[in-house]
Amino acid sequence: MNEETIKLVKQLLNTPKKIVVVGHKNPDGDALGSCLGLSIFLKHLGHYPTVIMPNDFPDFLKWLPENESIVIHEKEVEKSTEAIENAEVIFTLDFNMLNRVGDLEVPLKESSASFIMIDHHQQPGDYAAATYSDTTMSSTAEMVYHFIAALEKTDLINADIATNLYTGIMTDTGSFRFPSTSALTHKVIAHLIESGANNSDIHQNIYDTNSPDRLKLLGVALKNLVILPKHRTAYITLTQKDLDEHNFRKGDTEGFVNYALSVSDIVFAVIFIENKQENIVKISLRSKGNFSVNEFARNHYNGGGHTNAAGGRSSLALDNTITEFISILPDYNIALQNAT
Ligand code: 5GP
Ligand code: MN
Repeated sequence: MNEETIKLVKQLLNTPKKIVVVGHKNPDGDALGSCLGLSIFLKHLGHYPTVIMPNDFPDFLKWLPENESIVIHEKEVEKSTEAIENAEVIFTLDFNMLNRVGDLEVPLKESSASFIMIDHHQQPGDYAAATYSDTTMSSTAEMVYHFIAALEKTDLINADIATNLYTGIMTDTGSFRFPSTSALTHKVIAHLIESGANNSDIHQNIYDTNSPDRLKLLGVALKNLVILPKHRTAYITLTQKDLDEHNFRKGDTEGFVNYALSVSDIVFAVIFIENKQENIVKISLRSKGNFSVNEFARNHYNGGGHTNAAGGRSSLALDNTITEFISILPDYNIALQNAT
């Protein structure tokens, strides 16, 4: 964060404020961990924060400290709209365009609060009074730590803040393995453990709470895996029927796409998940090296994200989405062959 932004933020937080902290639609570990960690910190600073998420989040994140205080906009429209109307400061975390929050976009656009963005995705929008954007960062949760450090308040980090921030960093780095994981990330993690984050418990809470149905669904996904060696690409499809037969719950398909990327010499992996309710195919894209799935998602799937992890959607039927995908691949063949 540059000096000017730090000065502005200090000024905005100078006196106790009514604050809203918002994460993106379909919140993941980083969105939740960074929002909850920041909110608990702001409370200790003497502010009145409310965390709002556009929609519900997976059960494997429902143990995070203070997760029960989150207002889910889809379930409590009035409560969240009122909090936004009354807010003097609004933090937007782990996204950088107001179209990433679904129906929350309208009250946010109407708000006269001062916005503070903390985010690590590419191509940030310019809606915030203070923008802390850094695409080299492992996670928004790591940035929240640096944000607290810039305010010279790391002594306020207690076990609940540390646990939330640890979870955000751990989930967004694939447990500290993605290239965005730096020596600095590990230094932050060390301090979070010293501040009371129990790393072993957190890993268990996130990764060892599978339902049998979820594991069986993973079996179906792996059976549906298609490898296109010529394009160094692998993809997985899941139909609505596959989901229904395994009592699909939000978050059940999290991480499935990484199995496709784990195949030797594959640099591009995609999972296509049919969603009959929204009449779309939800698409998650992952890559290795310099092949940009952010660009691919922006070009074809009305989405975006990072160079190596992005998401989007298709409004074609599942089979047509796949046919189209296969027809696009040759256009990317040079980039796919050269990906390192
Ligand atoms: P996932 O595939 O896990 O849903 O998302 C991967 C990454 O891409 C995350 O960082 C997520 O925030 C981002 N992402 C997912 N969907 C979209 C989208 O529709 N638009 C943009 N801009 N980013 C997305
Ligand atoms: Mn993130």
